[in-house]
Parts: sequence; C-alpha cells; structure tokens
Amino acid sequence: MDFDFISIGAGSGGLAASIRAARHGAKCAIIEQNKLGGTCVNVGCVPKKVMWYAASIAEHLKLSEDYGFQITKNSFSWDTLVKKREEYIKRIHGAYDKTIKNLNIKCISGNAKLIDKNTVQVGEKKYTAKHVLISTGGTPNKPNIEGSEHGIDSNGFFELKEQPKTVTIVGAGYIGVELAGVLNALGTKVNLVFRGSSILRGFDQDLCNKLFENMLKEGINFYSEHCPEKLEKTNKNMRIHCANNKVIEDAGTIIWATGRSPLSSNIGLDNCGVKTDERGYIVTDEQQNTNIENIYAVGDVTGRVALTPVAVAAGRKLADRLFNNKTDAKLDYNCIASVIFSHPPIGTIGLTENEAISKYGKNNIKVYSSQFTAMILAITEHKTPTYMKLVVQGKEEKIVGCHIIGNFADEILQGFAVAIKMGATKSDFDNTVAIHPTSAEELVTMK
Ligand code: FAD
Repeated sequence: MDFDFISIGAGSGGLAASIRAARHGAKCAIIEQNKLGGTCVNVGCVPKKVMWYAASIAEHLKLSEDYGFQITKNSFSWDTLVKKREEYIKRIHGAYDKTIKNLNIKCISGNAKLIDKNTVQVGEKKYTAKHVLISTGGTPNKPNIEGSEHGIDSNGFFELKEQPKTVTIVGAGYIGVELAGVLNALGTKVNLVFRGSSILRGFDQDLCNKLFENMLKEGINFYSEHCPEKLEKTNKNMRIHCANNKVIEDAGTIIWATGRSPLSSNIGLDNCGVKTDERGYIVTDEQQNTNIENIYAVGDVTGRVALTPVAVAAGRKLADRLFNNKTDAKLDYNCIASVIFSHPPIGTIGLTENEAISKYGKNNIKVYSSQFTAMILAITEHKTPTYMKLVVQGKEEKIVGCHIIGNFADEILQGFAVAIKMGATKSDFDNTVAIHPTSAEELVTMK
C-alpha cells in the first residue's frame, strides 16, 4: 500500500481526520479537487461569519448616537470587505498548507474516484491505502425549474463583486435566513420567498416567531407559501412566477437557498459497493464505518448533523480509533449546540419544546422563559428583545433544551452547552451565581 490513510476531500472532516491520523504516525494522503478547507473555509462558515460581522457593525453604528458618538454612516465598500475577507481565507489556506507539509501529508490535487476498496484514482494516477475516508461534503441545490440558471446559490453569493441593490432569496432555512439578515443590514432590499408558513423549520417555534418579527421590523419582505415555478428575465430585472399564479416583480439577484445534496454520485461508490440512502447520503454506523471494510465516511456526505465541528469531531474520533488504539472512539451525535448567525443571532441546544413534549409527554415537561432588553440596547432607541427558554424534564428538572435569541446568543451558548451535555438540572443552573450585568445571567436566574 502507498499509504495508511487516504482522505477524499480536504474540507472540515477530511483535514481533521488526516491531521490527527498523521499525528498518530500514519502515512497519509489527502485529495482535493478545489481549495483546502472545503465548504467551511471557502464558501461557508468563515466568509459567512465575516459578512455577519460586517452586518453587525452596521447595526452597532445605529446605536452609536445614543452612546454619544457623532458618526455618519455615509459609505460602505463591499469591495473592501470582500477583499479583506478573501485575504483572511488565503491566510487560512496558508496555515493548512504549513500543517500538512509539517506532518508529511501528501496533498494531491484533483478529482478522486474509488477504483476498488483500497485504490483511488486521480487523473491517470492510482493510489492505494489500507484505509480510505470519504469526506466529500455537499453542494447547493438549484430547483429544477425553467430559468433556474438565472439565480445564484450560496457559493455564488460569495463571488458577488458588487453589492446587489435588491435580492430575492428563495428558502428560509438557516442559510437563507442568514444571508437575508446580512444583506438587509448592509442596505440591500431583501425579499425572502419560501414554501412553508414559517421560517427555520425544525427550530424552536417561539424563537422562529421572534426572529420573524424582528426581520419584518428590519424591513425584510416575506413571501411565505410561495413556491417558484419559473424565473423570467425581464428588460432590466427578474420576475419570479410562483405556484397559484403569484408573481414577484423586480426580484433583483436571485439566491437559491433551497437545501444541499451530498457529493457522492461520481466518486466510484459503485466500484466497491458502498451503500447510500435514497437521497445519496453514505450510510455509516456509529463509528463512521460504511458497509465496506476499511472505507469510512464523515461529515456532510453522511447526512448527519451538517456542521463543521461535527465533521471535525467525527474525523478525529475515527483517526483515534484507527491509529491510536482507541477502539471504542465514536462521536456522540446527541445534544450538539449550534448557532444561527441571524440578526439577532440564535443559539440552540437539545430538544425544542414540541420535541420534548412528544418525547416525554406534556406533564413531564416544564418551560422557563424570559424576555428582556439586553443592556447594550437599554439606553438606545433600538429595543430588539432577547428571549431565552429552558425546557426541563421530570421532577429533577433536567435541562433537555436551551434556546436563546438575542445579542451575544452566539457566544453565550457554548459554556452552557458543556453543562447541559453533562446533564445539568435547573437547580444546578440556579445554584450558579450570576455574572452581572450580562445577558447570560438570565439563564441562571430564571423563575
Ligand atoms: P466540505 O467542507 O464540503 O469538504 C468536502 C471537500 O471535498 C470539498 O473541498 C470538495 O471540493 C472536496 N471533494 C468533493 N468531491 C471530491 C472528489 N471527488 N475528489 C476530490 N475532492 C472532492 N457549519 C457550521 O458549523 N457553522 C456555520 O456557521 C456554518 N455556516 C455555513 C454557511 C454556508 C453558506 C454553508 C454552505 C455551510 C455552512 N456550514 C456551517 C456547514 C459546514 O460548512 C459543513 O458542515 C462542513 O464544511 C462539512 O465538512 P465536510 O468535510 O463534510 O465537507
């Protein structure tokens, strides 16, 4: 064999697994058809968060007058922001490059295909390995409707050279909602079009409602229960024809945020019989094994929780198991905290109120909640509420869900997630002395 471990895909999962495997002494290769870092670094978390920070700064500028500053926000350069963002991403590529070289991981550029269970082909070359990891991630969906090519997806959003005057974002999952918030705060007119009646399906309903109210207040136009059927280029603009004969005129730049699909169809899975489910996700067991011995999969291509730290953790556990004798190593997919970088942000972990009721029964669930104005806003005209909710279960009041919307929710949740993952109860929270004055203290003082 040429290598102990080959990773197809150098995104969050593939890089984490290879780096950990190499640190354990394995001879590794990583194959990437695009840029190091995958979705997260190039067209996901990282550039998105930079844009979110820009939007947050725009929002804070609105508060500045009440804090005594005389600042006129009379210009914003999309060009500067994008340039700085891309320079930052280049530095991340450089850091990965250095780590890979230092650990003697062979970095192979190109499109990889499995030939058999130990052989991967890139162009004319074939490489063999004892263990092969598939960490090819996913790609954005475009709907199969007339004119869909006139719209861009989240990858296209990060290629925009100019700030659009108007956008119509189709899809109200977390990516659609995040892009809507960013563009709106930076001054673009934003339409958000979605099939259902509520944004962020699957998240706690109270938080979805609060975010919806705030986005509405901030000027985003919502088109709920609108399903695009055709995109038409007009003289100078775009027109969206929706089901039920509804038409959206002057739609501007169309951004499809209509879900993602696994990159699993052209990687030679059939050559070695690796099983996928009906949507193309690679089927794995709890230790990331596929049905074929010595072939594994982690990250978005497995259809599990599609988040960077999840792909990273699963990849590292796998490398610990294969190359550091940790035979039981596996990622616990329960109780994973996540943040939606909306405006304001949402932090969430565990069961929503409805999920908790379905799982434990209404009589075994109690909800504590609190709504207040974060102190940063108290002396200003802007009173966007912060809302926090604890879902507790049983007599012991074990915390099974914690959901926050408001300034700093993104940073508050991580520490609480440790406690909740460890099985904290409401009285554990109550016995923790508050840090005052903060928003976070509300979580340990709720009545
Ligand atoms: P990826 O990071 O997608 O890496 C897969 C790599 O495999 C890619 O580089 C691809 O080019 C390569 N590849 C595919 N096929 C082949 C082949 N045949 N040969 C060679 N190379 C191949 N997650 C968070 O945790 N927080 C966030 O805030 C967040 N924001 C996001 C925002 C957006 C707009 C998007 C799209 C995603 C976001 N995510 C976020 C999700 C996160 O980016 C993914 O969960 C994560 O990148 C998955 O890692 P992965 O290793 O499975 O796949």
